[in-house]
Amino acid sequence: MTDEIRFATIDLDGGLVPPFPINPIQLTNRTRELVCKNVDGIPLRKYTSFYGVGVYGGIATAYSVGCNIRCVFCWVDWSRDWPERYGQFYSPEEVYSKLRAIMAERNFRRARISGAEPTLCTDHLCSILELVHRDRYAFDLFVIETNGFVLSQEPELAERLFQYASRRGDTVGHVRLSIRGGIPEAFTAKTGCSPEFMDLPFRAVEYLWDAEVSFHVAVVIDQRFTSEEEKNIIYQRLSDIQPTIRNNVEEEYLDPYPHALVRLRAVGRIDVTGTGISEKERLAASRMPRE
Ligand code: SF4
Repeated sequence: MTDEIRFATIDLDGGLVPPFPINPIQLTNRTRELVCKNVDGIPLRKYTSFYGVGVYGGIATAYSVGCNIRCVFCWVDWSRDWPERYGQFYSPEEVYSKLRAIMAERNFRRARISGAEPTLCTDHLCSILELVHRDRYAFDLFVIETNGFVLSQEPELAERLFQYASRRGDTVGHVRLSIRGGIPEAFTAKTGCSPEFMDLPFRAVEYLWDAEVSFHVAVVIDQRFTSEEEKNIIYQRLSDIQPTIRNNVEEEYLDPYPHALVRLRAVGRIDVTGTGISEKERLAASRMPRE
């Protein structure tokens, strides 16, 4: 057995099985121990792969390891839940070189870090952003995806991001912050986090706005996960911070990727998964690491 936090499951009464609901601040600290390290002053982070994809009009992607929350609809592979078993450590220069090589090969001008929570290894992320910034005329966009929990605890990170992702211009960085919930019970059901942490991503939005960071908010409005009532609460909270933020929301719908189906089935969401198990879901389940 292990004390590590994997993915949410429910008991026969439909309640979350401990250690869920989780504390995302504690999980941030634990995941950092596993996926971030400093060697001779160089901040390293774990990644599993580097590739190009068609979204955002074509974008080079570094697939990083480790997240500090546990969304039930998460499409990321098992590296999210077993970060100690997946990936290799890379320096900022290595990540940057790999992204630039993909951009050159595919004729892309965009890049991002995806696959997990990029802000977990803060110094590593900012070192990559510094390299991008020095070479910014080769880019028209560098996307920094985040769920906002680290930012909510470390407002100075918003000030650092401003250097590379500024609303004032001459930077190519742009933050995409995902808000997962606006009603406590629904937030917990979606993220696996205790309800008292629901406000943190909104705090992160405030920090980004105040620091003049270039960003937008993404909200899962798929009605299988977010009711009209919850969507309106989220939108109202964003409007209260600044109407522009609400007006620029990216509305997200979810695709049933194989790992998402395994996680959704574990919390009884057969309304989404269906009762039948596809070959892809079976394969994802069979590749789940054993404790
Ligand atoms: S924030 Fe993203 S990577 Fe983390 S659990 Fe949620 S969907 Fe997965």
